Amino acid sequence: MPLVPMNEMLSDARQKQYAVGCYNAINLDMVRGVMEAAEAERSPVILCHAEVHFQYTPLEMAAPILVQAAERATVPTALLLDHGEDFGAMVRAMKLGINAIMFDGSSLPYAENVASAQEIVRIANALGVSVEAELGHVTRPKSAGADGDEDDSVVDDTSLYTDPEQARRFVEATGVHALAVAFGTAHGVYLKKPKLDLKRLQAIAKDSPVPLVMHGGSGLSAEDFRQAIDHGISKINYYTGMAVYAAERLKQRLNQTDEKSFYHHLMMEGIAAIREDVQQSMRLFGSSGMA
Ligand SMILES: [Zn+2]
Repeated sequence: MPLVPMNEMLSDARQKQYAVGCYNAINLDMVRGVMEAAEAERSPVILCHAEVHFQYTPLEMAAPILVQAAERATVPTALLLDHGEDFGAMVRAMKLGINAIMFDGSSLPYAENVASAQEIVRIANALGVSVEAELGHVTRPKSAGADGDEDDSVVDDTSLYTDPEQARRFVEATGVHALAVAFGTAHGVYLKKPKLDLKRLQAIAKDSPVPLVMHGGSGLSAEDFRQAIDHGISKINYYTGMAVYAAERLKQRLNQTDEKSFYHHLMMEGIAAIREDVQQSMRLFGSSGMA
């Protein structure tokens, strides 16, 4: 199946009230685990690579693997550059065949976020690429293990949450195809138990012309995920949970075995761990069987 535009994928999800998982697959093993899960669950899927992960795998090495994975898929697949802040990286990603860009101007003043999003949308529209932007700010605390550099106290800062009226105006002004919103989630491992502002989420969703995205879902309860989807989330970015789970599985495997360890055994164990964790998330998000 060819690449599917993310905006089409998400409008189906919004209409039928499920969420599509967007998985940071930062190497070949993770790509394979995620795609095996999507095939097994007959689920649409978004594979992504984030700018903060270029230090592990450069964009130019990752993009051809993502494109190849989409070409081999029998389920609807979209490819996304996650948390793009660098203009050059976003344009290069489009050129490499990535068909969705998440532009993250959430740390910029509102007017600059609007102006930069407009510029990206103009280029993306010419190439048939979908754009997600972020308004409000989903935090990335330093101690949370998500390559963040923000003071840990940001987790209590509700002034960073998305304003519903501003969200509507932002989408209209920029023409973005999806919007990431802040209502109590955070990137990485939770430093304290999250409390979601679902009323705010519902108010944003009611007036938003486009599907909404949740970042920082790892560590939420199954009930939290269901509530977020019920209150208007159509795309869920997921990384930390599967990364921690896969690492634990490798640790167990290394401790158990008396035989000689080979890297390819670990690789296959890693792929299986990712597949299992992602399959579980797809059932939770309601995307299973929606391909
Ligand atoms: Zn994110």
